[in-house]
Amino acid sequence: MKFYDVSWPVSSGLPVWPGDSGVSLEMVRRIGEHSPANVSHLACGVHSGTHVDAPLHFIPGAGDVLSLPLDVLIGPARVIALPNVDAITLAALAPFVVAGVTRLLFKTRNSALSRDRFHTDYVALSLDAAHWLVKQGVRLVGVDYLSVETYHADYAVHRTLLGANVVVVEGLDLSQVSPGDYDLYCLPLKLAGSEGAPARVILTAPPNQV
Ligand SMILES: [Zn+2]
Repeated sequence: MKFYDVSWPVSSGLPVWPGDSGVSLEMVRRIGEHSPANVSHLACGVHSGTHVDAPLHFIPGAGDVLSLPLDVLIGPARVIALPNVDAITLAALAPFVVAGVTRLLFKTRNSALSRDRFHTDYVALSLDAAHWLVKQGVRLVGVDYLSVETYHADYAVHRTLLGANVVVVEGLDLSQVSPGDYDLYCLPLKLAGSEGAPARVILTAPPNQV
């Protein structure tokens, strides 16, 4: 079996959505006279790095991270490569047959973006694509930057997907992954009552398949 870790490494200074609290990961005690162990401290927003959005992110009273079904977070997934698009529109998606595929990850030019700062010109889903994905019965959508929706959008894409209980996975690194079919393991931290959570996301495939 081949394993692909498609999560961003979490470290201090990771770019975050403008206005969100940044990531701080520091060793606050070091082995020595005063400490028998190394101990680190992590502070970050729940939408830092690779993470999931739960319906509660945009729908008042909706499900939190704990409500996300494991049988959606884990299972067969298709990586679709759209290297030359500025937006993931219905027209861009149309050539790809997705009947029966309920987990879709979009690999765009975002996966090549540097992580030294936040980029606002990332590729994201258009509203017509979001509606179409819901109609197709898609249960999980993954993108390779920090939002499923463009920077200046009005959150209609989030509301459409989360309102249909589609799990949104943001901040994937698909740079090392070829388009094709994989098994997805998306395991968000079990943050009770939270509308989002950092996640470790792994794809696996038989060695001769991808
Ligand atoms: Zn988010």
